Amino acid sequence: MKQAIDEYLKQLLPASNTWRKSMEEEADENHVPIMDQVSMQFVSQIIRLIEPKHILEIGTAIGYSALRMLEAYPTATITTIERDEKRYNRAKERIAEQGKTDRIHLIHGDALDVLTSLQTTGHIFDVAFIDAAKGHYQTFFEKTNPMIRPGGTVISDNVLFRGFVASEEEVDKRYRSLVKKLRVYNEWLMNHESYDSSVIPIGDGIALSIKSNE
Ligand code: SAM
Repeated sequence: MKQAIDEYLKQLLPASNTWRKSMEEEADENHVPIMDQVSMQFVSQIIRLIEPKHILEIGTAIGYSALRMLEAYPTATITTIERDEKRYNRAKERIAEQGKTDRIHLIHGDALDVLTSLQTTGHIFDVAFIDAAKGHYQTFFEKTNPMIRPGGTVISDNVLFRGFVASEEEVDKRYRSLVKKLRVYNEWLMNHESYDSSVIPIGDGIALSIKSNE
């Protein structure tokens, strides 16, 4: 059922423009895990609603979601972090090809370190998008939280990880620890005293967390 819904929603999407299509194909050919198109469409809608000035992204890959968020709200600036050197370099090229180097600030490094140093710079973000190593989501969130303005939003992707997180069936041994961590994260997030959160079962599962104004 879920698969049929995903396929139906995907075929409803308008065709990708040239640069999107080229990035989607590149990611597919090189096994780069970019956001699926239905989830990306949803995140773009959220960005349009929020009209953010500053977005923080954890996990750039080749720059697809950063460019799509900017396409959704072209006056935003995006700070995005990627630790893999090859992907970082490819993102740099892709962002330059689109003429967006003035809007997208790409940082090469491990987000666990980069977020700690970003905290000291006084940066404040309207939106953060967490889409990196799933085992570290809670740490990414905790390090990001002080930089989110009151009323700001944190979007976490993959929180249902292929449906395993919600499934009562025994999880394949390879994913057991990851799934356990995501379950802990989801429960922690839903009970966070400064945020109201919802998990949306779209794509791989997206958590939308809105920080209180107090
Ligand atoms: N957001 C991208 C998109 O949709 O176009 C996809 C990001 S991909 C799912 C996750 C990326 O996060 C990978 O390229 C990986 O190298 C990077 N990553 C994982 N852990 C990281 C960390 N601790 N710091 C920085 N980057 C990390």
